[in-house]
Amino acid sequence: MDNQHWGFGTKAIHAGVEPDTSTGAIMTPIFQTSTYVQEYPGKHKGYAYARGKNPTRDALQKSIAALENGKYCLCFSSGMGAIDAVVKLLKPGDEVITGNDLYGGTYRMFVRVFADFGIKFHFIDLGNPKNILNYVNDKTKLLWIETPTNPTMQIVDIEECTQTVKSKNKNIIVAIDNTFASPYLQNPLKYNVDIVMHSVTKYLGGHSDVVMGALVTNDDTLFEKLSFIHNSCGATPGPMDSFLVLRGIKTLHLRMERHCFNGKRIAEFLAKHPKIEKVYWPGLSNHPNHHIAKKQMKDFGGMVSFVLKNASLEKTFQFASSFKVFSLAESLGGVESLINHPATMTHASIPKEEREKAGVVDALLRLSIGVEDINDLLTDLEQALEKI
Ligand code: PLP
Repeated sequence: MDNQHWGFGTKAIHAGVEPDTSTGAIMTPIFQTSTYVQEYPGKHKGYAYARGKNPTRDALQKSIAALENGKYCLCFSSGMGAIDAVVKLLKPGDEVITGNDLYGGTYRMFVRVFADFGIKFHFIDLGNPKNILNYVNDKTKLLWIETPTNPTMQIVDIEECTQTVKSKNKNIIVAIDNTFASPYLQNPLKYNVDIVMHSVTKYLGGHSDVVMGALVTNDDTLFEKLSFIHNSCGATPGPMDSFLVLRGIKTLHLRMERHCFNGKRIAEFLAKHPKIEKVYWPGLSNHPNHHIAKKQMKDFGGMVSFVLKNASLEKTFQFASSFKVFSLAESLGGVESLINHPATMTHASIPKEEREKAGVVDALLRLSIGVEDINDLLTDLEQALEKI
């Protein structure tokens, strides 16, 4: 059956996965091997060395490609490894346009690694896609989008940004970090985006037990170039991790439904609470780009950020450390609820002035809302808020 026509849940469970031909094992085996026997030089079963290819990884790549309605997927040993491969498509002198509210690690890689290789980055407000026109020139080779953004949940209009940049030059690569939405909520390839990137570590893996990245594309040439970088630079994941993610993906649709349900209840609770200054969640009707989120996302997700009213850094730290169900930790997208202090944790690598411009103030906290019982999560938030 052509999996393009399957519903998301059916794809999550079946796409890319075939029973093992040698045993009939219904689950993809963990091919824990670094090399493969050759009958004579160059004659093998399609696998020569595991950096380049591994059957467990192959199944995972097919599964993620199907979830994004894409032709090709490459998995990397981390989300950063995947982003690194995209930037390696460029040459010294090339320019990149990107948002001014990015995951801190992406910002750090751009300014502290690739800027030293002669690539110029423009960090601009992509909330207004027309801004792109002020920065596009004949050196522009890549537009890097993140939406919803981390941690202030800004929504960038994927279709508008892609059309705007491609109207100037259709060869400019548009790549998007789709980690926060997951393929369940948003499939950017349908807007003519060239590359979709995921930190698989998050919702795709879903159980906080793997670090991995992925790139999905429909473009044959980009796939060929990215495959070359993938194998040449070597940030490829192992078979055990590939197996764990294949297993995680089977419940992606179920987990996402609960993340969204819990996210809505918590965002609404915080929005009414007197000790909360501001709530960032794209599902709230007063979110500045709620209408764009509604257009391009299936639902609004389980990531919610908020600012405590009149809270010093110390008070914010005390609050963040006073939970019983939420755990204070970096990362997101797992079944368990996490609370994070972006200014000193995930976004510490961004200079204070830069991050405060993007709303990452000292009293900002980010929740990755898990799939626990909603009443327990609300009770936990309530008891923590009572203490401040
Ligand atoms: N992109 C986003 C939005 C992230 O949140 C992260 C990690 O937190 C990354 C990329 C990097 O992914 P990884 O940690 O898997 O390298």
